[in-house]
Amino acid sequence: MSGSELPKLARVAHAGHCNRCLSALPSSHIQIDASRLAIGFYCFGTLDLLGSIYEKTKEIEREGWREWLWHQQTSGIHGTGFKPSSYMTQDRPYGTDPEEYSEYDTPHLIMTYTAILSLAILRDDFEQLDRNGIVRFLQACQREDGSFTSFPNGGESDLRQVYCAFAISSMLDDWSGVDVDRAVSFIQQCSSHEGGYGQQPTGEALGGTTYCALASLYLAPSVSDLHAPNPHVTTDERRRTIRWLLQNQASSGGFSGRTNKDADACYCFWCGASLHILGVGDLVDRTAFLSYLASCQFKFGGIGKAPEDRPDPYHTYLSLAALALFPLEDADPSWKLPRLNALWNTTEDTADWIRQHVPLYTVKAQSPVRK
Ligand SMILES: [Zn+2]
Repeated sequence: MSGSELPKLARVAHAGHCNRCLSALPSSHIQIDASRLAIGFYCFGTLDLLGSIYEKTKEIEREGWREWLWHQQTSGIHGTGFKPSSYMTQDRPYGTDPEEYSEYDTPHLIMTYTAILSLAILRDDFEQLDRNGIVRFLQACQREDGSFTSFPNGGESDLRQVYCAFAISSMLDDWSGVDVDRAVSFIQQCSSHEGGYGQQPTGEALGGTTYCALASLYLAPSVSDLHAPNPHVTTDERRRTIRWLLQNQASSGGFSGRTNKDADACYCFWCGASLHILGVGDLVDRTAFLSYLASCQFKFGGIGKAPEDRPDPYHTYLSLAALALFPLEDADPSWKLPRLNALWNTTEDTADWIRQHVPLYTVKAQSPVRK
């Protein structure tokens, strides 16, 4: 199949799917109710990629979402971050009782990353962001082995949290919350014999954690140029990782996340973005890749992990993010998407907004002001 033979990208239907999910999720999604910030990010991110955030939402809605997101910012003895949801938390206005987290409303590292991205997509001015508190929160989450936990007092600890700590530090343009050398050493220990990276040392190589490892190693402050050799990735490691990632592109055109597993739309992003970061995106079979993602589109909107699967915001966003990285010249114009910042996982326009509004030190009225 050539690019011109692909069905159109169902832009209006996909935007509609995300708009519906921002209002309510089907009962089959009840288990993810406690990760509402992440779901919100996938929906806002999809609308951003489709260029529909202003067209398909009202200012009063965006204002309500911004307000709700700020309501999840929580502060305490381990610093400041965003909690995953208002689910099962005490309804405590932000700013009250700041000395102590309750058992249920400690901030969460991954949700803090998604909250900053969501607020940037919604073009918030970030006046309320407790930047110094976030730096203290990152410090509280780092463990002795260099990895990070989701919460200051525990929770999961693997490459996903390391990536979020690195992404947040680069957005703040301040790395004082992270012991970079220890974190890089942890990432390198996760490199598996297959060529990808596992969630933890000695773990099986996975597409998602390989993205987390590579994006972190390229976000690290000692790396100034994405196209120069990376001091944290040897030539041999790079070659093995590229080989493993390419092996994961299945005959259907989609990528699998583990050796000998079926293709899944989300791994088109995790593996595709990894190859893009390594500077070898041209090695992806783009026509087959787009053809697979086209086949995962649900006729009433949204994209599922495989053809005939139910759509969800996670696979919808990651499929579009993957498509943004691999444009195809002869495809229908409906497939054209804005440029993606592969390291932060957001559009370049939103990344620019972050650079202008989020850094710890911002220049105001000609003088540096620490916020
Ligand atoms: Zn998936």
